[in-house]
Amino acid sequence: MKQLSLIILFLAIGWQINAQQVEGCATPPVKSEWLTEYQQNPAAYPRSSEILYVPITIHLVGTDVGNGYFSIESLLDAFCTLQSDFVDSEIQFFIEGDIRYIDNSTYYNHTFGEGAEMMYFHNIPNTINCYIVSDPAGACGYFSPGQDGVALAKSCMGVNDHTWAHEIGHFLSLPHTFLGWEGTDYDYSSPTPNFVNNFPVERLDGSNCNQAADGFCDTEPDYLSFRWPCNGELLSNQPQQDPTGEEFRSDGTLFMSYANDNCSSRFSGEQTGAMRANLLGPRASFLYNQNPPQPLDPSIATLVSPVNDELITEVGSLELSWEAIPDAVGYLVDLDLMLPNGSAYNFGNYHTSTNSYVVTGLVSDKAWRWSVRAYNLNDGCTTYSGFEQFTTGNFLTATQEVEGLSALSLFPVPQSAGNQVQLSWSMVESKDLQLRIINLTGQTLYTERFFSPAGKNSKQINTNDLAAGVYVLALETENGRSFKRLVLK
Ligand SMILES: [Zn+2]
Repeated sequence: MKQLSLIILFLAIGWQINAQQVEGCATPPVKSEWLTEYQQNPAAYPRSSEILYVPITIHLVGTDVGNGYFSIESLLDAFCTLQSDFVDSEIQFFIEGDIRYIDNSTYYNHTFGEGAEMMYFHNIPNTINCYIVSDPAGACGYFSPGQDGVALAKSCMGVNDHTWAHEIGHFLSLPHTFLGWEGTDYDYSSPTPNFVNNFPVERLDGSNCNQAADGFCDTEPDYLSFRWPCNGELLSNQPQQDPTGEEFRSDGTLFMSYANDNCSSRFSGEQTGAMRANLLGPRASFLYNQNPPQPLDPSIATLVSPVNDELITEVGSLELSWEAIPDAVGYLVDLDLMLPNGSAYNFGNYHTSTNSYVVTGLVSDKAWRWSVRAYNLNDGCTTYSGFEQFTTGNFLTATQEVEGLSALSLFPVPQSAGNQVQLSWSMVESKDLQLRIINLTGQTLYTERFFSPAGKNSKQINTNDLAAGVYVLALETENGRSFKRLVLK
């Protein structure tokens, strides 16, 4: 415990200099000894032409009372983007074990010292430990070399963000392209010095690219240590001059720069070589499973019920069901209410491990649509199925059934349009009844009053005037209503 306190104290002091980097990455600006040696002779390091599969442990951090977790859906989207960002490097990730939840408000919004403690107590060895929190020390994210873990802000984990790729780049040995400039603002109006914060400043002619900045010669000079927008050629709007006065603009396509997320799309060849050599060398213990589970097949869920604009007669609770997908570990359900103007309003999002979900509290007299997204922890790139629609009828707000009426049935269901159907029921005592046929929008299409004697009764009903579709057949009195679904093919 004393040792831990010392480590935390050391890290907290060491990182103070980065505390002002509110928007960016707060990884300490150092080049590892391993990378320094590697860059002296990359050819001497192990190589492989295979895809390297690397385990990640996901820690979703919430508050003390269990609020604020990054959602599974957002995690899947971010994971899909991460995989895509590493495709060209032939490095792919899989989520090891279950997603881990940590209820801790201190870690949820943490300082560097608190983050180090979080990683110390929760890291799983030989995996890349990624902690998704609300505020990682005021930054979008950081890699902690001391604790060997990555912290990420929920707000920087969008489907179009590359913060996760950037921090894993750090984890696999990469410095920023602008190494040395962290915490120092480049000033075009002053001559550029030969050294910044004791790092040699990289020149445009490549003469010192091995020693200056990140030490990679295929990442050009970049002095911009704040988040910056790019122009149409994906270069910085901000021009810069190297120490010899040569002018250039920074390359926004590199994940390890601070270009905005819409500019960046790649690691350079030398960066990729270093990350792979790092995995095959000091990180070789991470490569224990080179046959992780494969993407879902099929990946799109087939919806079973309710479908085809089915009329729902019981709004208190409704089971949505779909076909199970092999190897899926969970399903996300999206339920929308259709507004009169035709737009969809999100009514609820649900998460279940089985191939059905019971929703409650639906309202009557509405149109709805729903869809399902299956996933497993190695396939974040699944998409939602198409929508299926159903309707809840307005007659459902009435309430009580016809008193003394029982055994109401309709035959056959479904029937072909134009053919008769038979409605049957039993009455305790004789009574005047009203027969009503209602369509899905609640319109009354047919009304007939008749006398029903006590005992068993039946009535043939013509469907000549009805198109194929779903209707409700209701028997009513002043005080109640009983109904059956009429389906015409
Ligand atoms: Zn960084």
